[in-house]
Parts: sequence; structure tokens; C-alpha cells
Amino acid sequence: MTKTAAIVGGGVIGGGWAARFLLNGWNVQVFDPDPEAERKIGEVLANARRSLPGLSDAPLPEEGKLSFHDDMGAALKGAVWIQESVPEVLELKHKIFAQIQSHCDKGAVIGSSTSGFKPSELQQGADAPGQIIVTHPFNPVYLLPLIEVVTTEENDADFIEAAKAELTGLGLYPLHLKKEIDAHIADRFLEAVWREALWLLKDGIATTEEIDNAIRYGFGIRWAQMGLFETYRVAGGEAGMKHFMAQFGPCLKFPWTKLMDVPEFNDELVDLIAGQSDEQSGAYSIRELERIRDNNLVAMMRALKAQDWGAGALLKSHDTLLKGGTPLGTPLEAMGDLSQPIVTLSRAVPLDWTDYNGHMTESRYLDAFAQSTDRFMDLIGANNEYIEGGMSYFTAETHIRHLDEVRAGERIEVRTQMLLGKGKKLHLFHSMYAGDKLLATGESFLLHVSLETRRPCEPSEAVSAAMAKIAEAQAGLPYPEGAGSAIRAPK
Ligand code: NAD
Repeated sequence: MTKTAAIVGGGVIGGGWAARFLLNGWNVQVFDPDPEAERKIGEVLANARRSLPGLSDAPLPEEGKLSFHDDMGAALKGAVWIQESVPEVLELKHKIFAQIQSHCDKGAVIGSSTSGFKPSELQQGADAPGQIIVTHPFNPVYLLPLIEVVTTEENDADFIEAAKAELTGLGLYPLHLKKEIDAHIADRFLEAVWREALWLLKDGIATTEEIDNAIRYGFGIRWAQMGLFETYRVAGGEAGMKHFMAQFGPCLKFPWTKLMDVPEFNDELVDLIAGQSDEQSGAYSIRELERIRDNNLVAMMRALKAQDWGAGALLKSHDTLLKGGTPLGTPLEAMGDLSQPIVTLSRAVPLDWTDYNGHMTESRYLDAFAQSTDRFMDLIGANNEYIEGGMSYFTAETHIRHLDEVRAGERIEVRTQMLLGKGKKLHLFHSMYAGDKLLATGESFLLHVSLETRRPCEPSEAVSAAMAKIAEAQAGLPYPEGAGSAIRAPK
């Protein structure tokens, strides 16, 4: 059954939560008195729709329904998760929790996005403190997986585990803090870096751009993939972490840092930073910067996914929860009706598959069709094990026709008809659709080979039998339009 989330406060963060829930198939009901809330959430959602679905290599569930409500009770109706993202003012949050608890389901989770407050502070004076936890996200909530979960003894262990499971289901990474602390983990860290940056600016050592460059050309990239300690472990060389600490530990005693001291945050400093920031990035609008950020984040996370590391490893394991077409390894017998073209790829177009024309770029059609061919090979038993055993298929020829365009975030499906599957020959015809719209066709001719001699050879009996079964089932299909065509000579 479709689950419902209520979003109380739909600004930058609430909008991101709304998108995360919605694109993962939840219905979302928003309460925010700002008359602009619907427009603002619409803009966040547009960004999310182009970037989030393509992170996965399987389609996300059907998008849920989004609704806006003037009445808190209506917004909370049926909600099993309520995410509070109102401004960071404790009295306001207390008032909002009282309103929420007078309407909401007693079993619902009330997660607060607070960056600074401890859950014990949020729970003060609440009717049911055990229902309130901190679920602190990172902007953009629809792309970044980290959620800091902070709880108190008022929260029941089963309740916490169930809440964490819901977050995991949304593709998020719940990091449950051992103890509550002001500003949790990540923002304390960021605060320390921010304070150092303020000193460097105030003392005229570096500009905003130079500080950003010091991060993004160097340690920022390292941090994104390994964090702090694993990076330093590598830096310690073969002697490892102990050696690293022995070598660098005493640095803490040097007067390198002004960490405990804060520069006076006066108009002069604010003007200095704002002026430099305008010079650095003022040529772009915030919406443009958001899109650039999202493009970069998607490309980085997908690269990490290929390495099965960090945030990429999380994405990879989340894909296994999504039911896209037929999972790898599904035996032919479990495929159901084989008389129609077989679904060999089902996914959304990733941002990094698109080009300067704003649509899926040429080379990715071949990528998608190659994935479909791999899937078809898996289906007939020419899988990893078979290949390790010394036999495989090599592609001898491919022909792609581009018939219509498709944009980032749109769902595509490839259906495959086997035109010939006999002896050493395998001739496949892939059709790529977005809904009912035919986007492209890809025709491939493959030869079965011995990986030892690198020459064509007969496939195993099992592979031949699987191809025969498909050939029999698909015998009634018409020869597809466009099959066998070549590029025509210009008239
Ligand atoms: P924001 O100002 O963009 O959004 C706050 C929203 O709450 C606004 O749309 C406002 O109209 C609405 N609001 C105000 N009073 C309300 C009420 N009584 N009922 C319902 N809605 C109300 O702020 P934000 O940046 O989205 O921050 C929200 C929360 O998220 C804060 O607690 C903040 O600490 C936390 N947070 C922010 C970030 C960030 O990077 N901005 C990151 C993580 C967490």
C-alpha cells in the first residue's frame, strides 16, 4: 500500500524531503503557510526529477501524489512519517510539535530536520516525547543519502529501528548517533572548517574562491570517497595509522589553528565575504548553481557506484531493493510469457547520459543496448560463470536508429526480440521505449566464441536449448520494422 508522508515546513529542506518521498513512491502532504510554498517545492521537485531517478540502475517506484493543505489536520491525515522542517527556532518547533501531536497518528514518526537542537530539547513539554526524533538531512535531500538520526531514552528501540528501516527504504543512510550533542556530527565538523575559513578571510590570507579551490582541487575529492580516517590511513603508508599519528600527532600542539577562537562576525566581515562570493559566483543564478551541483553530485556518485565504494556502494545495494524488469540470474523458466519481446532493461536516464542538446547522448544508446544484450546473454545461460568457463559472445555488428529524444530522469525500457539464435549465431533486435513512444532501435549480431582460441565455436547444449525455446516462443512475432536496414545513400 502506498505510504503517506506529511511535510511540515516546505522550504529548502522540506522541499527536498518532499521530493525524496515522492520519487520513492510515497504520497506527500505539505503544510506550509507561505503562499509561495507550492512554487518553491515545484522547483525543487523539477531538479529532483531530472537527477534522482537516474542514480539507480533500476526504475524507482511510480511517483506518489503531492498535495498542499491549509489545515494541519488534513496534511497529517494517514501520515506514517511526519517531517518537521520549519525555521530553526526552538519555541516555534515546540509549538509545531504540539499542533502535530494533537492531530497525528500515535504510531507515526515525527522526524525533525533540526541542524542544531538536541532531541531532548525538542521533546521538552511534548505530549508524547517518544514519538519525536532528529532526522537531520543534507542539502540536496533528494540526492545526498546521509541522515543523522539522534534519539533519547524516551524513544523506544523498536520505534527507532522501524524509523531507520523507513529511511533505508528511501535510499538514505541513517547514521544513528551514540549520544546526543548540539549540532550532531557533520555540522560540528563543518563549523570547525567554517571558523578556520572566517579567519583566513578576515586575516586576508585567502579569498572565498581560493578557499573553495583549496577544498575542491585537493582534500575535498579525497574526503568524498574515503572520508577522513581512511584517507589518513593511506597517507600513513605501509606502516599504517599508528605511524601516521606518531608523525603528525604533535602538529596539534603547534599554534596552527584558531579553532577555539571566533573572529568577530561584524558587518565588515559579512561584506567582505558577500563581496568576494559575488565576484566568485555571481555570474550564475542560484537555480543554475543548483543544477551544476546536482550534475556534479550525480556524476561523482555514479562513478563511486562503479567502484562499489562509499556513497556509491550504498546506491548499489539500494538498487537490489528496486524491482526493475527481471533481476540478473532469473532463469528462463521464471520469465513467464516469452512470446513477446523480452524486457532486458528498465531504468531512468541518468543525468550523466545527457549532452549539450539536453537529451540522451548518442553513445549511451549503445551503452543501453549493450546492457540489454548482456541481460539477454544472462537469460540464455551465457552468464558470468559461463564466461569464466571459457566461452562467451562477441558483438560483430551493431546498427542503431535514433527515432525520438528522451531527457534525464525519464524512464526507458528496452524490449528484445531474438531474430536468430542458432549455432554460433545470435541476432538480436532491441526496441527502446519511453512509455509507448519508440525512441530507438538497436540491432546486434553476435558470434559465440571460445575465449581461449578467440575464434567462433558452438555454444553449450544448455545455451542452445535456451535459444531454441525463445525461438519457438517468438516464432509468431513479425519481423520488426527497421530490422536489417543500413544507412541509405543520400538522394
Ligand atoms: P527555510 O526557511 O528554507 O524553510 C522553512 C519553511 O518553514 C518555510 O517555507 C516557511 O514558510 C515554513 N514555516 C514557517 N513557519 C511555519 C509553520 N508555523 N508551519 C509550517 N511551516 C512553517 O529553512 P530550511 O533551510 O529549509 O531549514 C528548515 C530546517 O531544516 C531548520 O531546522 C534547519 O536547521 C534544518 N536544516 C537546514 C539545512 C540547510 O542547508 N538549509 C540543512 C539541514 C537541516
